[in-house]
Amino acid sequence: MAGYLSESDFVMVEEGFSTQDLLEELTLGASQATTGKVSAFFVADLGAVARKHFCFLKCLPRVQPFYAVKCNSSPGVLKVLAELGVGFSCANKAEMELVQHIGVPASKIIYANPCKQIAQIKYAAKHGVRLLSFDNELELAKVVKSHPSAKMVLCIASDDSYSLSCLSLKFGASLKSCRHLLENAKKSQVEVVGVSFHVGSGCPDPQSYAQSIADARLVFEMGTELGHRMHILDLGGGFPGMEGTQVRLEEIASVINSALDLYFPEGCGVDILAELGRYYVTSAFTVAVSIIAKKEVLLDQPGREEENGSSHKTIVYHLDEGVYGIFSSVLFDNICPTPILQKKPSMEQPLYSSSLWGPVVDGCDCVAEGLWLPQLQVGDWLGFDNMGAYTVGTGSLLRGTHTCCITYTMSQVAWEALRGQLMSAEQDEDAEGVCKPLSCGWEITDTLCVGPVFTPASIM
Ligand code: PLP
Repeated sequence: MAGYLSESDFVMVEEGFSTQDLLEELTLGASQATTGKVSAFFVADLGAVARKHFCFLKCLPRVQPFYAVKCNSSPGVLKVLAELGVGFSCANKAEMELVQHIGVPASKIIYANPCKQIAQIKYAAKHGVRLLSFDNELELAKVVKSHPSAKMVLCIASDDSYSLSCLSLKFGASLKSCRHLLENAKKSQVEVVGVSFHVGSGCPDPQSYAQSIADARLVFEMGTELGHRMHILDLGGGFPGMEGTQVRLEEIASVINSALDLYFPEGCGVDILAELGRYYVTSAFTVAVSIIAKKEVLLDQPGREEENGSSHKTIVYHLDEGVYGIFSSVLFDNICPTPILQKKPSMEQPLYSSSLWGPVVDGCDCVAEGLWLPQLQVGDWLGFDNMGAYTVGTGSLLRGTHTCCITYTMSQVAWEALRGQLMSAEQDEDAEGVCKPLSCGWEITDTLCVGPVFTPASIM
């Protein structure tokens, strides 16, 4: 164990104890919400984050995972991932500071933002972060001046037109412009060491990865021809975070593995990375948010149409959090959060057409509409699953008024297994050629499946 995460960082829970059980305990009698101090209680299962990591290594054994800090920068997540040997993809100085603050060495950080402030490039130079991404000439000029020893990764555009959140409009060089950029880098004596792409967050088509890997091969050839020592391929993010998504990790992995075998076969001397965000954290976080206000709207009021013919009113609930806070996925990912009620309604209880709104006084702050819920009261708590990605961090940055409280948990079994896996992996690093199969579950037996924990030292 590297010592990033200790037992004092989380609540040890019984195996089988759900995050919702804990949320219920936390919210029972929680008066902070009504005094406005805490707007949301999160419970995060760090064991689930670790399990995701082992599943990823099992599916994509050639890929070294980096974590995209912007997705959820909460300390428990950063610590457990650092403990697992994951690298970190940072978009700005604040994120680099955060991960360096917990002791992550600069060699495990990639400053993956193709458009950077000069002051932040200087920060990276001063603090030893050498791997940076770029997609245009101006960035090269900035690096020549402010970070001449940087190793640059050329970020190319992907076809992300079907993804939930597209990035190629904002980031990524077209294939046409790559030769010119690589020539320019050579002239300016900037070292280009690889290629990155991002197929877009929530990518439904695994073939997008295959196409981008093929494009990256072309750029590798251009770079090598021009004298660059190309040895890093960065597959970006876009891997699914929720269970039961349209495309499963295994399907994506199978497409990626075949494309890698074809274009970057084993032994070709290229380090393959990915920058995973939502994959690691989405399903590990559950949140409870309280109802702060409520009003009934009669459907036969002028200008309103009766819904469903069965009810004459709709109930509008106001929550302490909205789309400008932890529910930003409603705006960016087209997601409709479904609340989990504290008490399961009985069969006899009438259900009412209901909607959930955030605290900001504007017509866009709508969290969910078209729900059928029993009568709820001000002060009641609503739970929401799959709340780990782009919730903590983004929300507080946008609103800056309320704070979210996060309780980290891990089961005893997960903790023992994590320690066991990491310690065995450390021993295996000394035993050359030993690579046992990985486990995605927690089996603490003599036959515990152990996998390698990468230390991406070969990057630098
Ligand atoms: N890498 C970069 C450069 C990104 O911009 C993002 C997200 O926007 C990610 C990785 C993480 O993406 P995801 O959450 O889809 O894994």
